[in-house]
Amino acid sequence: MPTIKVAVINASTVLKDADAGKAVPALQAQVHNDFAPAWGVDADLVFIPKGSQPPAGAWWLTILDNSDQAGALGYHDLTDQGLPLGKVFAGTDIQFGSQWTVTASHELLEMLVDPDINLAAYVDQPNGGMRLYAYEVCDACEADQLAYKTDGVLVSDFVYPAWFESFRKAGSTQFDRQGRINEPFQLLPGGYIGIFDCPSGNGWTQITGDKKAHHYSMRPPSARGERDGGRQGSSGSGATSRRRHADVCDQLAILPRTKDSSRCRVRPASTWVKPAFSRRTR
Ligand SMILES: [Zn+2]
Repeated sequence: MPTIKVAVINASTVLKDADAGKAVPALQAQVHNDFAPAWGVDADLVFIPKGSQPPAGAWWLTILDNSDQAGALGYHDLTDQGLPLGKVFAGTDIQFGSQWTVTASHELLEMLVDPDINLAAYVDQPNGGMRLYAYEVCDACEADQLAYKTDGVLVSDFVYPAWFESFRKAGSTQFDRQGRINEPFQLLPGGYIGIFDCPSGNGWTQITGDKKAHHYSMRPPSARGERDGGRQGSSGSGATSRRRHADVCDQLAILPRTKDSSRCRVRPASTWVKPAFSRRTR
């Protein structure tokens, strides 16, 4: 399994290097022992104390003081160099009584599953439309009360791939690390998830290697039976549903890109009253 390198950078003033660094072995243990077996994505973490530079090519998990995004305790995005970046606002965490290590774990795991913030699960809706669920693995179970300890450090609960699989029956498998979620797409108290509702009637558009768009007609409301009929050829018509995630990429182009307003990146501060800080400018 190829291993991702993540630099955990302490750029905060509220955490001493010794305190921030102490959490890194626990985050590492969570990734290796709990997360990688479930998701098939592993990472090697290296702690970068204040004033030091992260190694080239590493993804960043940066610990900062105060949030630069209204309502956010942390989020993930891309660096200016185009590499995945998670931000953890330890000062804001402390201010609102949240555990910064849970935020760090949250942003780290979500960055590993969806580093480009462009994945989503698609679910048929009864009205013939469809809903896209953002592929964020800690949001549904993100509250500090749902967190668990690894090496004495509190880390975030996270969902398993089955959480995004609508065919799973309630109670049929494990949906999250802590076993609190009972069925796909369930949100625990304090949890949330980004969704994108697509109204019926739009149909699917498939792009091809020759850059020509082919429009299919509307998929039937009872599409599930036909979903297993396989994919349509590029010149086909009729049933338009697709069942493999990779096929939905073109549709996902309509999702807003991150930059100033990252999709589903937040652990919202439950006690948030009025954000006093400004938004990021870049
Ligand atoms: Zn999240």
